[in-house]
Amino acid sequence: MEMDCTREKDICTHLGDDYDRFMGAVVPPIFENSLFVYKKYEDLAQAFSSERDHYIYTRGTNPTVEILEDKLAALEHGESCKVFSSGMAAISSAMITLLKQGDHILFVNNIYGPALKYARYIERFGIEHSISSKFDAKEIEKELKSNTKIIYLESPGTMTFKMLDLKAIGDMAKQKGIVTIIDNTWATPIFQKPLDLGIDISVHSCTKYIGGHSDVVGGAVISSKKIMDQIFYNEFQLNGGNIGPFEAWLLMRGLRTLPLRMEKHQENAMKVAEFLETNKFVQRVNYPGLKSSLDYELGRKQLKGYSGLLSFEIKSDKYEDIANIINTCKVFKIGVSWGGFESLILSPNHGNNLEELKESNISPSSIRISVGLEDINSIIEDLDNALATLK
Ligand code: PLP
Repeated sequence: MEMDCTREKDICTHLGDDYDRFMGAVVPPIFENSLFVYKKYEDLAQAFSSERDHYIYTRGTNPTVEILEDKLAALEHGESCKVFSSGMAAISSAMITLLKQGDHILFVNNIYGPALKYARYIERFGIEHSISSKFDAKEIEKELKSNTKIIYLESPGTMTFKMLDLKAIGDMAKQKGIVTIIDNTWATPIFQKPLDLGIDISVHSCTKYIGGHSDVVGGAVISSKKIMDQIFYNEFQLNGGNIGPFEAWLLMRGLRTLPLRMEKHQENAMKVAEFLETNKFVQRVNYPGLKSSLDYELGRKQLKGYSGLLSFEIKSDKYEDIANIINTCKVFKIGVSWGGFESLILSPNHGNNLEELKESNISPSSIRISVGLEDINSIIEDLDNALATLK
């Protein structure tokens, strides 16, 4: 008999197991098929009338993918979820589904670069955007235009880690009939539930903590059934950014340990942040979990925990010094992405983009780390050793 999964850890581990449906398999199988055959043509003809509720073709629905979608929707208190082939497929679909020629998007906070690049790409279709560097809902309201359709947020931003008051922004946008989208990848559904705070759509790069093992790329959109139906029949089906069943199954495997991994990422990252705060070569640490953070109180109100991605600024803005620190690390590997089991390090300073960093209010002295699940002593020793190259 299927268990009643309402608690988070039960959703992650068991929601959708359905032993009767899957011949007692303790792990639901991978439905690695592109299409579904029907006994009678009339049944297929009838299924066409609502493809979302039937298995016809895996570009639309697939039982393995659907279990993952049900888990994510339940975790984030959304009516519905679709999982995509990448975070960017999810983000671009959520944005474009709401827009037409002449509309405007307001981006708030430091936004993931390719999401902004997408906004620049769709300018050719007569869709405008602007970027707000304000954090207060009333100030943000002043930057809205008569044609603003979407407020797109990140909180915390994944380079500067500044936070936004989601309830205040959600309330303000609702009053004006503007749809809010948040990239909730940093917090994961475990540490932040934006829909409960009045945000309309939550998007994720599942490539990060949800997968957690750096072996799969995927994305998700979670929202109301109405918005998700619209995305399903348009952007999802027509752009065809569906995830493969095997990748969905890997994400499901990651999800089973998400709450446990997040606890450990939080524990390790907090120790790292505290260590960095006391290090003589460090100017500043950007992590909302620190009591010294300007966003600490907002974080306590809005977040249930803090993930493992943070940045710090060293007492030098020389590219060579940054490269030297990064190159000296052994535990921290040099690479993009984050949220996996492994510790990663990089800097937004590429040695040739100072103008760009200035425009985005990002310090050229910044180094970003994804604190992994290695032994905390190895992690801290590695950073201590690397920072000592600054003397
Ligand atoms: N959102 C954030 C904050 C990210 O850091 C990333 C990827 O690095 C994405 C979205 C895009 O996700 P994906 O790489 O799965 O397309």
